[in-house]
Amino acid sequence: IIYSVTRSFLTKLCSAENKQVDLATHDFLTNLFNRREVYIRMNEEIQRFHRSGKCFSVVLLDIDHFKQVNDRFGHLYGDEVLILVANILRSSFRSHDRIFRFGGEEFVVLLRNTTLSKAHKVFNRFREAVQEYHFPQVGNVTVSLGFVGTSRGSPVEILGQADQALYYAKEHGRNQVRFYEDLVASGELATKVANDD
Ligand code: GH3
Ligand code: MG
Ligand code: MG
Repeated sequence: IIYSVTRSFLTKLCSAENKQVDLATHDFLTNLFNRREVYIRMNEEIQRFHRSGKCFSVVLLDIDHFKQVNDRFGHLYGDEVLILVANILRSSFRSHDRIFRFGGEEFVVLLRNTTLSKAHKVFNRFREAVQEYHFPQVGNVTVSLGFVGTSRGSPVEILGQADQALYYAKEHGRNQVRFYEDLVASGELATKVANDD
């Protein structure tokens, strides 16, 4: 298995595909868009929303108890889990949605042209796909997700709201999807008072 993990690194390093990947915009390990791109692409979506009223949803997701994976199996297996979760992300969303590696074991998905009930469904379907996947040696892994349906505010504000919903999911048992606007409507989360329009 160490061989297969090492081989996947070497394949990435040597593949013709990898030579075309721009490391200014992409994450080396997963080939997803990197953190900087999150802000650039979200700003584009916000402008599009102001121009044409097209809404988008943002999800922030985090692997549950990922430190234990590293501690029990080592960093190489941890890295392989990240690569495999990135693959499940790629196969769970449509080509015009955008997927980013936001940080260590955190990812962001920007869903475009979708309704809130569809967003709920696709995020849950992705969560289940991870839960059902057998990760070599490691076994089962779960993810928690926090999502926001509003297209108002700055990228930092919207991501902050997704983070609050994610934190709520973590505090309430992990392996679940939480919707920021629902949590605010039900009084489970307090809104921050906006200081601009
Ligand atoms: P929680 O369910 O609350 O999210 O717990 P957690 O253990 O996932 O969270 P925590 O933030 O404590 O741990 C995240 C770990 O992710 C710690 C860090 O070593 C690991 N990590 C971050 N980036 C990488 C990476 O690129 N590769 C590997 N293997 N591990 C990483
Ligand atoms: Mg984390
Ligand atoms: Mg985590």
